[in-house]
Amino acid sequence: MTNSCVRCGCCCSLFLINLSKKEYASGRYRTMFQEHGVIEPFAHAQGCGAHLLDKNADESCVYLVAGRCGIHASRPAVCRDFFCTTQAKKFAGMVEVIRQSKAEALAGSGEPVEVMPLRS
Ligand code: SF4
Ligand code: SF4
Repeated sequence: MTNSCVRCGCCCSLFLINLSKKEYASGRYRTMFQEHGVIEPFAHAQGCGAHLLDKNADESCVYLVAGRCGIHASRPAVCRDFFCTTQAKKFAGMVEVIRQSKAEALAGSGEPVEVMPLRS
């Protein structure tokens, strides 16, 4: 099983990205309900989903650019922790969602899922 990201963009499109309290408070990230500014306390922001990264109209992360993370060096901790071949139990559900999504894409197109080539 590979640990190399082929930058298919699946994990950056299928899930909501939760910012930590510190990440949210920094105001560095584009979030849902951005127009309301940083909501305090953090529990209130969590309650209404204001601590989630914003999404594009196609449901992809607002920072996803041509299959690549546009803020790779400063991406949220949850993005650093996750990899689609992880064996960690806490990510088992997400890994399965990605597996199903790729299987459905394959079945729908009759062709392999397009992947972004790694930058050399
Ligand atoms: S699903 Fe896996 S291969 Fe695709 S972008 Fe995410 S980590 Fe990379
Ligand atoms: S911040 Fe980067 S790694 Fe995280 S979901 Fe968005 S594009 Fe993907």
